[in-house]
This record gives sequence, C-alpha cells and structure tokens, in this order.
Amino acid sequence: MVLRPLAPATMPTLRFSTIPRPLLVRCLHEHTLLHPRIPVLRTKVRPSLLLPIAPTPGLEFITEVEPAIRAVADLLKDSGGKVVVLTGAGVSTDSGIPDYRGEKGAYAVNANYKPIYFQEFVSIHPFRQRYWARGYLGWSQIQHAHPNATHHSLASLHRAGLISHLITQNVDRLHQAAGSLPDHTTELHGTLHEVHCLSCSHTVSRDEFQATLAQMNPDWAQWAAGLEQSGTRPQTNPDGDVELPASISYAGFAYPSCGSCGTGVMKPSVVFFGENIHPRVKQVSFQAVERSKAVLVVGSSLATYSAFRLVKVAKELGKQVGIVNLGVTRGDSIADFKVDLGCALVFSGVQRMLDGGVGSS
Ligand SMILES: [Zn+2]
Repeated sequence: MVLRPLAPATMPTLRFSTIPRPLLVRCLHEHTLLHPRIPVLRTKVRPSLLLPIAPTPGLEFITEVEPAIRAVADLLKDSGGKVVVLTGAGVSTDSGIPDYRGEKGAYAVNANYKPIYFQEFVSIHPFRQRYWARGYLGWSQIQHAHPNATHHSLASLHRAGLISHLITQNVDRLHQAAGSLPDHTTELHGTLHEVHCLSCSHTVSRDEFQATLAQMNPDWAQWAAGLEQSGTRPQTNPDGDVELPASISYAGFAYPSCGSCGTGVMKPSVVFFGENIHPRVKQVSFQAVERSKAVLVVGSSLATYSAFRLVKVAKELGKQVGIVNLGVTRGDSIADFKVDLGCALVFSGVQRMLDGGVGSS
C-alpha cells in the first residue's frame, strides 16, 4: 500500500473515526503522517488504542438469527444452570429507555451529553439543583416503562433454573418487574427507584421523593403535568437525567435534605460516574462469576470497566463467555462467541427453542 497525502479538500470533514484503521495503524508504525497538516498523529492518543484487537482464536462471530439462537441455547444447556447473565442498556431500549451508546459505541442520544459526576453532585449545590430538576421531569419515563420480550425471556430462563445469577447495569428495575429472581439479581450500578441519604443511609422510594419535589416546586410540577398531557415529555437518559434547552434556569429548584438526620444530602441510589460500586455488590458479582460455568453478556457494549472486568475475570478463570449485542463491545476480543444482533430477536427464539425443544437435541 502506498501512502499518499490526502487531498486538502478532504481535510475539513476528516475525523479520527473516519480514517481507515489499517491506514492509521500503518502510518503509526512507520511514523508516517497522513498529511503534514492533519493533527491525528500529533495527538496524545496512546498507540495501543490504535492497534486492532486480535480476536480470540476460534471466536465465533454470528450475524444470523438461527445460529445465534442455537449458540445461546447451547451455552445455557451445557452449563447446567450455572450461567451468569450480565445485561446492559441494550436490553431496555425496547422499553423506551435509550442507550447512552449506539452501535459504534459513541453517545447515541447526544454526542455532547455529559452525565453528572459523583463529586459534582456531592459538593456543588447548583449541580444538585440541575440534576433533581431534570431528573424530576425524567422520572416519569422510567416509572412507566414496562419490561419487554428480552426481560421476560431472561426472567423465564432465570425462574427455570437455566440462569444462576443476573447482574444488570440497568437502573430501571425492569428485570425484577418481569419476574427475575430478586435474591439472584444484582444491580451493579444501583437503582433509580430509591433515594438515600449520603450521611445516614436513610432510604426512601423515588415515588415518595418525587412527590416531595412536586410539593416544593409547584411550577415544575405544573410543567411536568403539561408535558405528560401533551405527550411531549423529554427523552430520559439511562441515569434518569433529561436534556433541556440551555435557556432553562435551575436556580429556583428546591430539593429536600434527609428526612431522618435532617441535614444529609439525598442522592438517587444509582452509581454515578466517578463513584465507587458498593463493596458488597462487587463481592456478590465476583462470587457469582466464580461459581458459574459461563458468562453471557446481553445488550451491553461493556464500556464501563466495572462490567468489563467481570467478563475479563470470567475469561481468566476459564469460563465460557458469550456476547449478544448489536454493535461492537469491549469484550469481543475475549469472547468465545459474539452475536451481533438485537437482544429481543435472539431471546424470543431462545425461549421458543427451550420451551418447545425445537432443534434442541
Ligand atoms: Zn440522613
């Protein structure tokens, strides 16, 4: 391959992601610039990030429905009920809760969307005002979401003893609503359905907290009611936040302190970016993986390290790893098989195959 400078006319639209990876990697190895004025190779991108990830030898990459259903069903049957299922936002998109990331791993809702960070929430009052104001409008979509075919299929498999433990990154409680066994379901990133005090751990339901917010902010309550009636409520992000026009002021939004200790900061019981997962949750998750024979990732790009490391540990312990996700995931290179299809399509079929025994010999 002969490397030639790209035509200047292409430069204004050239982006890092649009450069063919083989070309980029070769340029890097040979210390060759694509073009003297193109800044790509002068950035501080670590070379390791540019190198293609070598797939596991023998990785089965599946893009057709029937082989996908069979691969998942075989994993479930061969593991004798010792399967940990790890789910992510891709499972809840069919319930109207958008994924942060699309098929390419980029933010799907808004490329510039920046979720709130734990330290911002804890230490800065205006950040809490903004979060609670936007979350106040966003709660309705989470509250009224219903489990979809994937949740129901997984719950059914869970109750049938084919899944030993379900770990979810989702904070919407839709797995539990579908009937997954609560004692064997772990919310890795917490839940939006509860609000707790950072000082004394006093916990209230989100519905109760929401009612208090409505009482304290009647103008916002009126606005929310209008949005509900008109069916124009804003799109809610997976952390319960919504995006509103920059002209909106949150300065007057009021929120309560802890009703028990009186002064503690109340926070939704989700793990924010920059916040540690509770040690007990981490322990339960790792123990579930250790006791399993296989880990099946469903609807997750494994972009968060807390989820990816469970898969990594599973692989290190010699467990079988399967992934069902439409789009690239961080675990593709270490999986035994990867299904690049939507979850509902696959799990409806898995359910039928296991229920009916069709082709399940
Ligand atoms: Zn308190």
